Amino acid sequence: MKRVSILGATGSIGQNTIDLIRRAPTHFDVVALTGGRNIAQLAADAVELGAEVAVTAYDDLLPDLRAALAGSEVEAAADGAALVEAAGRPAHWVMSAIVGAAGLAPGLAALEQGATLALANKESLVTAGPLMIRTARENHARILPVDSEHSAIFQAMVGEDSAAVSRVIITASGGAFRDWPLADLERATVAEASSHPNWAMGQRITIDSASMFNKALEMIEAREFFCFTPDQIEVLIHPESVVHALVGFCDGGLMAHVGPPDMRHAIGYALHWPQRQALPVEALDLAAIGTLNFRAPDVARYPALRLAREVMEMRGLSGAVFNAAKERALDHFIAGHIGFTDMNVVVEEVLTRLTRDPEEMNATLTLDCVSRMDHLARQCADQVVTERNS
Ligand code: NDP
Ligand code: MG
Repeated sequence: MKRVSILGATGSIGQNTIDLIRRAPTHFDVVALTGGRNIAQLAADAVELGAEVAVTAYDDLLPDLRAALAGSEVEAAADGAALVEAAGRPAHWVMSAIVGAAGLAPGLAALEQGATLALANKESLVTAGPLMIRTARENHARILPVDSEHSAIFQAMVGEDSAAVSRVIITASGGAFRDWPLADLERATVAEASSHPNWAMGQRITIDSASMFNKALEMIEAREFFCFTPDQIEVLIHPESVVHALVGFCDGGLMAHVGPPDMRHAIGYALHWPQRQALPVEALDLAAIGTLNFRAPDVARYPALRLAREVMEMRGLSGAVFNAAKERALDHFIAGHIGFTDMNVVVEEVLTRLTRDPEEMNATLTLDCVSRMDHLARQCADQVVTERNS
């Protein structure tokens, strides 16, 4: 029996993970499930899967969670400290699928107890890549990628010598606005940005796909996870979303990973690794797709890609600044305080204001200093939005 925990169980990745676990209940012993506001889902899944503990991130929801779990043997807990405690309970495999920087501390706790961490929460590598890698190494833990592009790179590199890798190409669908005239983007609404042409995902990552901030985070994630240099990492728009990444080798060959746009492939690969097991994903009908298209992204349309290159060069705390500014800019866009293209302006301004001191940027990363920088960058983003709107 594999002991598993799912952080962010009520979200899109969390529910896909539960779908796979539910199909093989005798193989898994569920330790902790965590969620946020969706108490009904959290409690129902925890009871069905016989979890040891169910945790909501919000302490005001503890009475609701207790009520929903009444009569079951599942323990109820709430708040950030409880999330970290649950993530640190002995488990073989932990899915990290909380959205945003809130996923960092629980992910570190899982690594500290030596678990294999299936990492969907790209923000933890963006904000604190060296800290995550160091923590995994020190505790003989392992991180497996779940982001589809990074799972694709990982799979394409099996059996290869990483020194022979010359380049890596991650693909992007181009999101909701890939065919919109550039001039119309500033008037794009939250509803328009929240629909993805190919993937069904949580709202925040869907909007990040339209702005390409998701791809920007993924470039940094690839740098931190695989230690590629910034100039080895390329992005191509690929509207069909079936080639997730390509790895190029020194002899000119490219290994492409091709799969359906269904996150259960990457989740299942991480769940069963190092084996492969049958998964409930549709077989790709390449004849029906017919043509695969690739084109270079237009940098004027997607300033996030340029900003990601700056962060990949700076490293250190600049990733925490970038991610927190992006998260706040997204909050302000969703709340209607700023327009779609203003998100780029806010993030760039926060980066300019907070990454001036190279020594500060290059401090050894600890959870404390990353959290402090995250907080500062959020305040700075709020300040920039206030200045723009006054
Ligand atoms: P969702 O928004 O669907 O789910 C997020 C999960 O995190 C939910 O369980 C939510 O709880 C919980 N949550 C929200 N805020 C907090 C908080 N402050 N503290 C603790 N838990 C919180 O997101 P996705 O599943 O789409 O994405 C999860 C992660 O996976 C992200 O990092 C994303 O970038 C990454 N990812 C997602 C992909 C996808 O296909 N969806 C693909 C690749 C990567 P509740 O809903 O109960 O409030
Ligand atoms: Mg991805």
